[in-house]
Amino acid sequence: MNEGFAEKAAAAGCEVIGQRRLCSLTTFKVGGECGGVVAPRSAGSCAALVRLLNEYGEDYFVIGKGSNIIADDRGIKRLIVLIGEEMSDISLLPGGEGIVCGAGASVIAASVFAQKQALTGFEFAYGIPGTVGGAVFMNAGAYGGEIKDIILYADAVDRESGEIRRFSPGEMGLSYRHSVFMEEERYIIVSAAFALGKGDSAAIKAQMDDIMQRRRDKQPLDYPSAGSTFKRPEGSYASLLIDQCGLKGFTVGGAQVSEKHCGFVINKGGATFDDIIGLMKSVRETVIEKTGYILDPEPVILTDRTDTGL
Ligand SMILES: Cc1cc2nc3c(=O)[nH]c(=O)nc-3n(C[C@H](O)[C@H](O)[C@H](O)COP(=O)(O)OP(=O)(O)OC[C@H]3O[C@@H](n4cnc5c(N)ncnc54)[C@H](O)[C@@H]3O)c2cc1C
Repeated sequence: MNEGFAEKAAAAGCEVIGQRRLCSLTTFKVGGECGGVVAPRSAGSCAALVRLLNEYGEDYFVIGKGSNIIADDRGIKRLIVLIGEEMSDISLLPGGEGIVCGAGASVIAASVFAQKQALTGFEFAYGIPGTVGGAVFMNAGAYGGEIKDIILYADAVDRESGEIRRFSPGEMGLSYRHSVFMEEERYIIVSAAFALGKGDSAAIKAQMDDIMQRRRDKQPLDYPSAGSTFKRPEGSYASLLIDQCGLKGFTVGGAQVSEKHCGFVINKGGATFDDIIGLMKSVRETVIEKTGYILDPEPVILTDRTDTGL
């Protein structure tokens, strides 16, 4: 990272973290070096950082908790803008019928905050190990709910102008694991507000505990992963198709189709980027050949390579 740039980023209210390996920033625990890490401490410092990045012509990638990313262990040249704990405030909306969260707040913390305020609607997301920004970016969902059902607005920095813009739900184009934010890398989400209903705190907690238990029972949470490896294809389920094709436990190097849940590829230990991508390619080919269904990867593949074949 350029020294002059680092000084100006710090002056703009960002924490300049410097070099970190991507394996320490992602839940799959795979990934090499990057061009350095900078974490804004507020929406304003994020906007100032964007203007600075544009001035210096620096290319960058945004990371929250890295729970939906498969990062290349050859590393990437780009800088990482980390939207994390520095931007994780959660508060009640005026009137108390919802909450507003910094994009770096964890989804789990947002669910717990809502429950403590006896607000219902966020229970479905309890256990999703990402940030609010990451959840809005991909319209995260689980157990019959999705971000789309509760979002009121999101504020995002326009990477071209460095200005903050407010998006209404209609402007976000939210559908299954999709948003306008995914279509072009143009916005950094800095906060989001959610409309929630009045409920009973104990009943909300009971539902959240039930959801967490279902996750623990079904998902391979003891191993690093990026969650569901493939999106649900129209008319079926990725995990069902993978299981039907006899791929449970299928292994390439340190990467494995989880024996507990075929929808997850896990890092059994020492998995490389090539192991994971190679395994995903084989799974995809076998599923197309045997069932005709095409599986599209759900996680973002973070690499400087021009083509991974996925
Ligand atoms: C064990 C496990 C279980 C999971 N269960 C679920 C589940 O039930 N439902 C579900 O939907 N997902 C699930 N996931 C996937 C993941 O947790 C979600 O996709 C989550 O929303 C990603 O948030 P993140 O902060 O980790 O994003 P990251 O992985 O850091 O980033 C993912 C993408 O979002 C972009 N992004 C992140 N933050 C911002 C921001 N502030 N502004 C703009 N772009 C941003 C990144 O650039 C990247 O393209 C699971 C993952 C794991 C490991």
